[in-house]
Amino acid sequence: MNVHVPDNARRDLALVGCPQCMFRFETPNYRLGMRHRCPECEAAIKPKYVRRAQDCGYSLSFHTFLQLLTMRPYRDDIVPLIGAWFGYEAEYEGRSLTIRNAAGRAVDVEQMHEMIQTSSRWQEILYRKAGKFFR
Ligand SMILES: [Zn+2]
Repeated sequence: MNVHVPDNARRDLALVGCPQCMFRFETPNYRLGMRHRCPECEAAIKPKYVRRAQDCGYSLSFHTFLQLLTMRPYRDDIVPLIGAWFGYEAEYEGRSLTIRNAAGRAVDVEQMHEMIQTSSRWQEILYRKAGKFFR
């Protein structure tokens, strides 16, 4: 999984470590909590957080995004937003979440997160909604 990091996003990089081989590398703040491929040992990992990004701007980590989608009262505000942007619906079974598109197919939540985080407009709208809760 190669991630292109634009130069203007350099300050958005968090330092993380591979739990398998302890190798340290940088990743954009919004990818924290997502699956990664370790650049050293190539294992599929969820990196351990070492140092936060200097300036996260309007980005949200995947971990935070999942909280917003699954926990009350956040999800009551966030799910309609996802519905308005993409026509997606959320289904809950206990603590597990499934996002479905208009055709009823399950959507990859990591991909949806990346899609939102690569749009500065969507990123900012979501950040401001989240800020209401986390401030
Ligand atoms: Zn590794």
